[in-house]
Amino acid sequence: MKLDPLRLMRWAEDVSTDSTCAKIQVGAVLVNARGQVISTGFNGTPAGHLHCDEFFSGTMSRLALGEEVFLSMHASFSEREELHAEQNCILYAPQASWAGTTLFCTWSPCFACGKVILTAGIKKVFYRTVYKQDAIDYLSRHIEMEQI
Ligand SMILES: [Zn+2]
Ligand SMILES: [Zn+2]
Repeated sequence: MKLDPLRLMRWAEDVSTDSTCAKIQVGAVLVNARGQVISTGFNGTPAGHLHCDEFFSGTMSRLALGEEVFLSMHASFSEREELHAEQNCILYAPQASWAGTTLFCTWSPCFACGKVILTAGIKKVFYRTVYKQDAIDYLSRHIEMEQI
């Protein structure tokens, strides 16, 4: 099967719409060496936990809190309770299948996800929007990174 990066990035964009994060929706798709999608993931709380958009609702909504307070409160909530799309995508694939895969992310990985990506043995990351350039630079010294 021929790898079509743009098609797989569209898939990741599509997956991102399942995210229940009140701040940002991120999607990821993991593809094996044969070009087969073996896992997908989006950012959010662990399965069965209160969703971010449930926590930030009503009097706690983004609109009610105001942008500055929301962003500050969301940063703490997210650090405590949310997994990033890359982490979910990798965790939901069998560990034995991680090595040599290619990851498609709608946002470039943060340092925390970068460490997971390297440990999983992923060989290439395609990303769309730049999140942190220094994390991209760091990952580029170890694996292939390409913006599409
Ligand atoms: Zn969130
Ligand atoms: Zn991350």
